[in-house]
Amino acid sequence: MLITKQNINELAWDKADNGLLPLIVQDVFSGKILMQGYADSAALEKTFATGHVTFYSRSKNRLWTKGEESGNTLSLKELSTDCDKDSLIALAEPAGPTCHLGTETCWDGDAQPNLSFLADLQNVIASRKGADADSSYTASLYAKGVKRISQKVGEEGVEVALAATSGDKDELICESADLLYHLTVLLQSMDLELNDVINKLKERHAK
Ligand code: AMP
Ligand code: ZN
Ligand code: ZN
Ligand code: ZN
Repeated sequence: MLITKQNINELAWDKADNGLLPLIVQDVFSGKILMQGYADSAALEKTFATGHVTFYSRSKNRLWTKGEESGNTLSLKELSTDCDKDSLIALAEPAGPTCHLGTETCWDGDAQPNLSFLADLQNVIASRKGADADSSYTASLYAKGVKRISQKVGEEGVEVALAATSGDKDELICESADLLYHLTVLLQSMDLELNDVINKLKERHAK
């Protein structure tokens, strides 16, 4: 169930521990779990009022807006609760590393959902923009420009089709990897992101 500022009172506050429900924050794009804390109703009200995920900190004994000192805020996209309304997930867009140790998530280095690797790859690809052309293959592609990158995407698309029609599954996997990589570079070179493509797919799906 989606939670808005109008239905905060429908949560299972009777089951809450000291008025606190667990609040998990998940990256809206990658699906990675960024952190977990606790929220009372005032924390949720403040989250909606500011658009930034706010917890009740048991160590500070007060409302705590993540990023209030570091600037690494969590911009709320959607808040939802589980089947029995006693646990919350906030989908959010982080402004920077979420963990106070400086890592992206509080579980950094450990297993992450497979699909989130596309987000990591896109970040690496984005970080190569403006780099010296002979410092990396990605940087050399940017230097050649959109036309050459588009050609590569076309070639890889054809290679995917040839691999599939030849029935070679290993080759199909390799060529699909080439295509996804080059498509991500092309989108980046046009200042677009995989997220823009996903939003289009979702928009179509909704129809
Ligand atoms: P911040 O809210 O990012 O400005 O950080 C302020 C303080 O909150 C830090 O010094 C930590 O004590 C604590 N803190 C920040 N991020 C986390 C986190 N992800 N999990 C637990 N505590 C945190
Ligand atoms: Zn539950
Ligand atoms: Zn942490
Ligand atoms: Zn290829």
